[in-house]
Amino acid sequence: ARRENEKLRRLNEVACGFYQQMLLQKSVGGAAQQYLNTRGYGQKMAQAFQLGYAPDRWDALLTHLREKGLDIDPARRLGLVRPGKQGRGDYDLFRGRLIFPIFDHYGQVVAFGGRILSGDGAKYINSPESPIYHKSRVLYGLYRAKEAMRRSDMAIVVEGYFDVLAMHRAGITQAVATCGTALTLDHARLLKRYAQKLVLLFDQDQAGQTAALRAMEVALPEGLEVQIVNLAPGEDPDSFLAGAGREAFDNCLTRARPVLEWYMDRLLVAGSGVSEQARGVDEILQRIGLLPGEIERSLYLKQLAGRTGLAEDLLQRKLGELQRSRP
Ligand code: ATP
Ligand code: MN
Ligand code: MN
Ligand code: MN
Repeated sequence: ARRENEKLRRLNEVACGFYQQMLLQKSVGGAAQQYLNTRGYGQKMAQAFQLGYAPDRWDALLTHLREKGLDIDPARRLGLVRPGKQGRGDYDLFRGRLIFPIFDHYGQVVAFGGRILSGDGAKYINSPESPIYHKSRVLYGLYRAKEAMRRSDMAIVVEGYFDVLAMHRAGITQAVATCGTALTLDHARLLKRYAQKLVLLFDQDQAGQTAALRAMEVALPEGLEVQIVNLAPGEDPDSFLAGAGREAFDNCLTRARPVLEWYMDRLLVAGSGVSEQARGVDEILQRIGLLPGEIERSLYLKQLAGRTGLAEDLLQRKLGELQRSRP
């Protein structure tokens, strides 16, 4: 299996190099270069992240592999080449897309993401899972972010490829992206190797807020110090940096808040009825119960008591009940 995986890794290397070359070739990758420029990214960023372009043909990668005399089978197992239906030949997965190679934390290419430049079709497609790619264990950009994470003791999690690029361009290099999947326990543990503090910087839309709630629940039990940053409604880090600029962005960053305080704000809405309030308190207690540290739990209970006017020992007792009833 080790030798097999080695073959898969080597094939990804070849594909990565091919896509990169295609982006650089003006006659092929001109439109993709133009697309990057329009979004404010130049040659330097493209090179740093080894971005590429998959030509808008059914068999560009396939032909390249054949010309190099390489076995197609690993490409099939990586999902880069797909079997044609009803006797038709194999075809490339990525066609006419800007390519983001996805590296694991050792710096090996394990998968690719591809963005459409224009027209209909899924905005992004990704390599499927394979023996060397488990998306629940890989974070986009980690290989390039880990040193800064160690230095600052902080990891910033964003949602998308371009958000990572935008952060790097702004000189904030400890950012990684989940790329359309929820933050998993494996992700949280991986980040904990590098940093104690985890900053959630998700899109300011429904999906992003839901993702933040789930990330909170995954990361708090791990003892990570979780903070959340909010941008203007509808924005993500890339769009906000491009539109509002660096200073406005920095202002948002400095207003990062402990995720539990943000959560309390959401649930303790002024003017809500008693039963709604009670439900909110219950939800908050459950999240406080996720904290591994007794002192921290106690401090948040005090905060909750202060904000609701409920007695601290009542909240303490309720928390105890909740924790005993947990499976
Ligand atoms: P862009 O800025 O390029 O328009 P985005 O990163 O802001 O895209 P979102 O819709 O916010 O896109 O999604 C966040 C991330 O989720 C994307 O970067 C991508 O990794 C993933 N994603 C989005 N749409 C899809 C899709 N249709 N299929 C698979 N993954 C997707
Ligand atoms: Mn979004
Ligand atoms: Mn987005
Ligand atoms: Mn975006």
